[in-house]
Amino acid sequence: MQNTEIKTTCSYCGVGCGIIVTKDSQNGVSIRGDQDHPVNRGMLCSKGRNLHYVVNDTSDRILHPEMRWSKNQPLEQVSWDDALDRAAAVFSSIIKKYGPDSVGFYISGQCLTEEYYLVNKLVKGFLKTNNIDTNSRLCMSSAVVGYKKTFGEDSVPIAYEDIELADTFLITGANPAWCHPILYRRLEQHKEKNPKVKVIVIDPRRTDTAAAADLHLQIIPGSDVILYHAIAKKIIEKGYVDHDFVRNNTENFNAYKDLILSTSLEKASKLCGISIADINLTADLIGKAKGFITLWAMGLNQSVVGVDKNTALLNISLLTGHVGKPGSGPFSLTGQPNAMGGREVGGMASLLAAHKELANPEHRQEVADFWGVDTISEKPGLTATEMFEALESGKMKAVWIICTNPLVSLPDSRKVENALKKAKFVVVQDISHNADTAKFADLLLPAAGWLEKEGTMTNSERRISYLPKGINPPGEALPDIEILIRFAKKMNFNGFNFNTAEEIYAEHCALTKNTNIDISFLNYSRLKNEGTFQWPVPDYGHPGTPRLFTDKKFYTPSQKAIFNLPSSIENKSVQPNDKFPFILTTGRVRDQWHTMTKTGKVARLMTHTPTPTLEINPIDAFKNNIQDGDIVEVNSENGNVRVKAKITDAIREKVVFLPMHWGKKLENDLNRTNNLTNTLIDPISKEPDFKFTSVSVKKYKKP
Ligand code: SF4
Repeated sequence: MQNTEIKTTCSYCGVGCGIIVTKDSQNGVSIRGDQDHPVNRGMLCSKGRNLHYVVNDTSDRILHPEMRWSKNQPLEQVSWDDALDRAAAVFSSIIKKYGPDSVGFYISGQCLTEEYYLVNKLVKGFLKTNNIDTNSRLCMSSAVVGYKKTFGEDSVPIAYEDIELADTFLITGANPAWCHPILYRRLEQHKEKNPKVKVIVIDPRRTDTAAAADLHLQIIPGSDVILYHAIAKKIIEKGYVDHDFVRNNTENFNAYKDLILSTSLEKASKLCGISIADINLTADLIGKAKGFITLWAMGLNQSVVGVDKNTALLNISLLTGHVGKPGSGPFSLTGQPNAMGGREVGGMASLLAAHKELANPEHRQEVADFWGVDTISEKPGLTATEMFEALESGKMKAVWIICTNPLVSLPDSRKVENALKKAKFVVVQDISHNADTAKFADLLLPAAGWLEKEGTMTNSERRISYLPKGINPPGEALPDIEILIRFAKKMNFNGFNFNTAEEIYAEHCALTKNTNIDISFLNYSRLKNEGTFQWPVPDYGHPGTPRLFTDKKFYTPSQKAIFNLPSSIENKSVQPNDKFPFILTTGRVRDQWHTMTKTGKVARLMTHTPTPTLEINPIDAFKNNIQDGDIVEVNSENGNVRVKAKITDAIREKVVFLPMHWGKKLENDLNRTNNLTNTLIDPISKEPDFKFTSVSVKKYKKP
């Protein structure tokens, strides 16, 4: 038999690179970048290039449903019918006894849009609770709120093609050289061809992105809002404001201007650790830009003031009129391959499908009518961290976890472990036994992985791609939609008579009709035959929309963008003190993805950073008698970690860094970074404060 080729999309980060998979007669696959794909033009990063290892290695896959009859018994293989009968019986009895809010679903930005849509319909429409949230809560919910407050809707305005049109970039709270490598490569290539292009990076660490920048502002963690205010003040004072844009297209400028002009540059400089000269230089670079793009990710979003950081940054784009024109605009980077698709279908506790609002009674009724149910509960659902707190306190009794590993990825891991132990019933629907969370499952359901099912995803620039099924899943693993449909039928719910992913996609698209994300005319046929499209696509022949707001009409009632004022200029994280004098910031390493359940299987990806290390500045290391490679113990109010020290002047004094990927190993959990992280969340976006935990660091002495 001849090899066959399949065009699809990478399942790791939100860049959304096109991949060509070659399948041999034994179902083995190999991978190369798609030269014709508008995102990556043939390029792939180390993770994408090695994706086939994960597909070909099925050694750790869950092959059959497994169930334990009571908490003390081991998991044993059962049939799909027995597994889903039990799930339906337990969920029904818990809901009957304790009410619908006693159960919840915790899902993933790696789910395909059809899966995301279906599980939201199931939970919000039929289980009658809004307790459905996603691990995307951990990475971009602050950006969602920031866009809504500024533009009236969750709307990323620009496209990757704007990168090649811009001359000035402000990258803040992101390390795209490692975490969005192909997007960064496009920026690098653009700068190589156009030496006048300027890149400013704001980061407490001299990352690879910062090292290559024209200007690196090595900020004290948490002080972003006042830094943006200080930059805005210099922009105003130096006459760089786009007054026409501000006058005609924005609201609340005067209040913003008053706040900004009252900002003390000396105070800002002290709080941020950035010199006034560098603040001046940044304002000049932005002020003189013809095309100005801001790029940001977790460094802004994962904060107790994440929404304030987002709106303060968006204000700079408004101030300088860099919105809705080629080569200009704000651009939040999504970490996961389908975080954006999840947003489209309302895949969070606070949202409804098609960007409709859970808090809006008319929207709730529209969606309820569309789904053929009486009502949707008006009570906001529990968000990611709230859900596990509710399990720990006993308010929630059962959780269904799909395609994510909260035991490693949520803050304060030991609290999550307690929650999973206390839950009456835990369902884990995933591809492998590799995720630490799976050990706590009362019911383990084998799901099909990437390439083993069909569906769609949306990348960071609103680009929707179709992903075909290329190979069969191993054992009895099923596509997630099939598992959910079977469960819904066991619960006797109407509205789940779908035979294909295409039918679910069509229902989702129909709900977007006449909304700002209208894709009601974008069907599977167009995606298969014509390639990828950026939403909205509001007509049959419509080519998609690379750039929003070109008409300067925003989605607010006045159609003007809004300057938002922060609730405070101060960082509200728990500050360092005598007991915990360092600020811990967490993040990613180049070749790992999330909690390593996939990338951790690939030997060549393990060579880049084989073990987690604590980055510490040489002065702090000297003061604490720590040598490079020493084992150090890191403690916070919540827990401890024991890892090797890596002494580097790439990190600020009094700040330390740990990668978040490593989970519990067989012998202990002392390399799990989230043992340390605090449980504070942004009050609006409910995104955790991963980038700021006060810790102590000392050399570990064996007892
Ligand atoms: Fe995959 Fe992201 Fe790498 Fe592209 S940049 S190959 S989408 S991990």
